[in-house]
Amino acid sequence: MQIIKLWCRHASQLIISNFVPRHLPVKFEDVNKLQDFLSSSSRLLVITGAGISTESGIPDYRSEGVGLYVTSQYRPVQYQEFVKNSSVRRSFWARNYVGWPRFSNVEPNIVHLALSKWEKAGRLNMLVTQNVEKLHSKAGSELVTELHGSAFRVICLTCHNRVLRDDLQTIISSNNTDFTKTTAQIRPDGDVELHQGEIENFNVPSCLKCGGILKPDIVFFGENVPMNRVNFVYGKIKEADKILVLGSSLQVYSAYRFMLAARKENKPIAIVNIGATRADDLAEVKVNARCGEVLPKLNLS
Ligand SMILES: [Zn+2]
Repeated sequence: MQIIKLWCRHASQLIISNFVPRHLPVKFEDVNKLQDFLSSSSRLLVITGAGISTESGIPDYRSEGVGLYVTSQYRPVQYQEFVKNSSVRRSFWARNYVGWPRFSNVEPNIVHLALSKWEKAGRLNMLVTQNVEKLHSKAGSELVTELHGSAFRVICLTCHNRVLRDDLQTIISSNNTDFTKTTAQIRPDGDVELHQGEIENFNVPSCLKCGGILKPDIVFFGENVPMNRVNFVYGKIKEADKILVLGSSLQVYSAYRFMLAARKENKPIAIVNIGATRADDLAEVKVNARCGEVLPKLNLS
């Protein structure tokens, strides 16, 4: 487990790891409200976002002061760019190759572990995550729907054959024996920053079955979540008795639509997130705090 740095920036504002935004300690009454909300639930649907993995050392996109959109010029590759432009793919795969050893070894934190315990206690109906780094599975959760896919799989855009990302790493290595790996900051999708000179001679992997374009089995920006996956989650919302959102600003519609669906179904919503979310006005309980501080204080056995 990675060592988490903890220090005071301001009298009562804490920063846990470099990627967790400034926040205040959780209020006692907020924990009680959330405990009351959850105590009567036996079919809870949980939706998680990048905010729960910042404590594992993976930055998110949008958090105030620490998200990638405010700390860098970085923007994720758009689906159409990736499909149309071979130099975009070369750059993408070179960066993904360099970032993979660190990204794939990130460990789950106390939030992932708490959710796994809730599942074993029979309290969860489904865990829907927007994250692609498999930390819920690593923590032992089984009832997981990866809304945006998984960085641990790769798909061929032509024949749709899927391979494990770990297996592809070996193939890329053997095709790029002269490639010098550098270390750089990882991103929520496993990406890192490289200079153009480092990328030019990179040999891009292609499908071993048909030679087609390979892409991580992740829903890219500009791409839609498959409808069967969306409908599956709608069905789980109908089955659930309550909805809990953890570490997501719900800015992207792919997750926000489930809040609208929950409201239509009269399913109460609680949200734990540092900062405002798009669904604050739909929530019965909103806790503005760090998930890793809040979840260990809750009892759902
Ligand atoms: Zn193929």
